Amino acid sequence: MARNPWLRDRLPRLRFARRAVRRFMPGEDAESALTAAKGFEADGITVMFTRLGENVTKIEEGDVVAEHYLGLMDTIAERGLDGEVSVKLTQLGYDIDRDRSLAHCERLAEKAALSGRTLWVDMEGSDYVDGTIDLYERLHAAHANTGICLQAYLHRTAADIQRLLPQNPAVRLVKGAYAEKATIAYQKRPEVDANYVALAIAMLEGIRAGHTVTIGLGTHDVELVEQIAEHAVALGLDRRAFEVEMLYGIRSGEQRRLAKAGYRVRDLIAYGEAWYPWYMRRLAERPANVLFALRQLLP
Ligand SMILES: Cc1cc2nc3c(=O)[nH]c(=O)nc-3n(C[C@H](O)[C@H](O)[C@H](O)COP(=O)(O)OP(=O)(O)OC[C@H]3O[C@@H](n4cnc5c(N)ncnc54)[C@H](O)[C@@H]3O)c2cc1C
Repeated sequence: MARNPWLRDRLPRLRFARRAVRRFMPGEDAESALTAAKGFEADGITVMFTRLGENVTKIEEGDVVAEHYLGLMDTIAERGLDGEVSVKLTQLGYDIDRDRSLAHCERLAEKAALSGRTLWVDMEGSDYVDGTIDLYERLHAAHANTGICLQAYLHRTAADIQRLLPQNPAVRLVKGAYAEKATIAYQKRPEVDANYVALAIAMLEGIRAGHTVTIGLGTHDVELVEQIAEHAVALGLDRRAFEVEMLYGIRSGEQRRLAKAGYRVRDLIAYGEAWYPWYMRRLAERPANVLFALRQLLP
């Protein structure tokens, strides 16, 4: 459904769908996201912003997104928010002109550095993994304040982590949100979970071995987070060796509980009009969310 153009054009116009998506995003405009961010401060939870959209087809659209993020970063700094930005390369025109999308990332990283923040690059479907890692390596070589997302469902990710560790990377580890083939990706949840823990441990061991690795655990799987925290302690590190990152509206109580228990917690707040494919991936992650969406049809 995430890739169905007919639904992508029509569903977002329906009132019930707009109502349902509110569960995962405070609003379509940046101001709603900025306002929501303020609300997390009292709980000691920091934030990350992402404007939804992917695979732009005109290079100018990517330019507009880059300008938008530059402005957003100014506002984040002006308001004194502990907020970072995460971008999708295909929203910055990567499909049309890779060098231009890299140049956009460089400008964004420079801007983020002014307020001591990290610029994050999302990971998209498997066709983009090689290109995203290559681009990240070029970006990171000149801008240390940049991070990349890697997906635990892919068989290749263990090797990608070993490749990146000597470069002192920032890595957000997620399970992976796209439908990938069994030839390249683990399909069963226990396999993905086991790989997730193994990859997190590989990064913690990287820290022990003297690399500077900034780790974000992008998951709502609190059991995994707690397991990884135990491994960190066993390695002589502590739970603050990594940050826990969750999506706005998902397991909010757990986000607050973890922050209270001394974990570093960051909430990813999405906004923007192009929410359709992103929202479909959220529904696919949890069937109960489909029921929630359908309930919005009721008066
Ligand atoms: C900060 C962040 C950034 C991300 N960036 C990327 C990216 O760049 N590329 C990418 O491929 N993926 C990204 N993802 C998505 C990720 O790959 C997973 O698809 C998503 O996080 C669901 O997996 P999970 O780790 O929460 O584990 P799951 O095994 O799916 O869920 C664990 C538990 O969390 C709860 N939960 C999980 N999802 C939901 C939901 N939608 N609604 C309600 N409860 C839920 C459930 O109780 C579930 O039992 C990101 C996720 C986060 C949190």
